[in-house]
Amino acid sequence: MKWETVIGLEVHIQLKTKSKIFSGASTTFGADPNTQACLIDLGYPGVLPVLNKEAVNMAIKFGLATFGSIQKRSIFARKNYFYPDLPKGYQISQNEFPIIGEGGYLEIESDNHLPKKVRIRRAHLEEDAGKSLHEDFHGMTGLDFNRAGVPLLEIVSEPDMRSAKETVAYLKSLHTLVRYLDICDANMQEGSFRCDVNVSVRPEGETVLGTRTEIKNLNSFRFVEKAILYEVQRQINCIESGHSVTQQTMLYDVNKNETRPMRIKETLEDYRYFAEPDLLPLVLTDEMISKIQKTLPELPHQKQKRFINNYGLPDYDAKILVTDQDISHYFEEVVKNSSAEPKLIANWIIGDLSGFLNRHKLTIQQSPISPKELSVLMDRIQDKTISGKIAKEIFEAMWHKEGSADMIIEKKGLKQITNLSEIEEIVRKVLQDHPTEVTKYRSGQERLLGFFVGEVMKATKGKANPKLVNEILLKTVRTGRDLSL
Ligand code: ADP
Ligand code: MG
Repeated sequence: MKWETVIGLEVHIQLKTKSKIFSGASTTFGADPNTQACLIDLGYPGVLPVLNKEAVNMAIKFGLATFGSIQKRSIFARKNYFYPDLPKGYQISQNEFPIIGEGGYLEIESDNHLPKKVRIRRAHLEEDAGKSLHEDFHGMTGLDFNRAGVPLLEIVSEPDMRSAKETVAYLKSLHTLVRYLDICDANMQEGSFRCDVNVSVRPEGETVLGTRTEIKNLNSFRFVEKAILYEVQRQINCIESGHSVTQQTMLYDVNKNETRPMRIKETLEDYRYFAEPDLLPLVLTDEMISKIQKTLPELPHQKQKRFINNYGLPDYDAKILVTDQDISHYFEEVVKNSSAEPKLIANWIIGDLSGFLNRHKLTIQQSPISPKELSVLMDRIQDKTISGKIAKEIFEAMWHKEGSADMIIEKKGLKQITNLSEIEEIVRKVLQDHPTEVTKYRSGQERLLGFFVGEVMKATKGKANPKLVNEILLKTVRTGRDLSL
């Protein structure tokens, strides 16, 4: 029996507002426990929530960018449940009438490498809960309410993903988008971008959905992928051994790489939703929406198309460069300042520069090599002052702040040799020094060309223009013509 995986996601993003969704307390991450929780966040009697307009604007921005339907009238509701880090005994959320209704989607690359639309069912505003700290105190749980009331946008997808890979593609696409929109810093470690993964399996060809489980608290793309792979296999084993899957919430254990049941999932009725009596319905006007429409930046998929069309980049390069706004900005700065081919520049940013940044755990904004400085290096490759190989050496020196590309080329005497007679002279010497190899080459061992190229490069410390070396060797090694051999 072949099984199909079905996945739908609920992603909670913390909106980047300065203050909380219903109070004026700060949302800054990392403050001392309970220094940023005011009476409203703690649900003291007699206090009243006031909706943060910026959070609303950010939700609208998201809806517009994903082509969802912005609801002119949405309603906040109380979702009642007990949890130690939820002092009010309810969470203010949106239930029946979310701010962003259906119709939206995100485009991802499917498993068979085709563009695929993952539909977004809804996105709604709600407040975050506090945090229980289980590790900091022996035998006790600490409660930090700084997070209580931080605005969240919960983004619910349709069950449109068919593998762990597609799920990660959707998450990455969402991650990039919310950072472009500047509505979330999307730091998975700090919990500002969190996802719950709903997983089920069904026999291939079946149209009815199987029973799902929900995996909670996955804080990296890698764990999302591993948890899904484990859970899918667990469900298949369960069904194939004659049991059925129980609808429940699972916890992924990073250390054991397994999922474990956490609780039987509440049903909708358990929450006793009712309209929040302390907040008016949220009513949006066309003016508000069109004003926000004008603030939308160029979106990742638009930028990707532009990079392909304007710079002649392959799909793959464009996609990598636009994943991070700062990287795409860096790329365009180099292009602007350099006469080198954009493809060459893309190669250097995706390859050497990213490699160095990763190894030193730096962001591109912290790069010791500025776009202007890199553009000079690119120019020297393009105008053949140096070879690509020598450029790597110069790049490393630039990284260590030894000076500009030109200064390093000058100081270390790395200028590429493009003078024809100079290279011919060296070729002549190499051929004279290796008569046995020359004879072998002439009797048919043409692979030896590489050997000669290598010797010439060695003799010039890598500075000879490789293309010229090849041309001259091809012309001369067979006959010795023009080199008086
Ligand atoms: P709830 O209201 O209990 O959270 P929903 O029906 O709203 O449940 O769905 C929540 C998420 O679960 C959505 O992202 C949806 O796509 C996904 N989902 C629902 N049913 C399945 C299923 N059988 N398999 C996989 N994902 C599912
Ligand atoms: Mg849900």
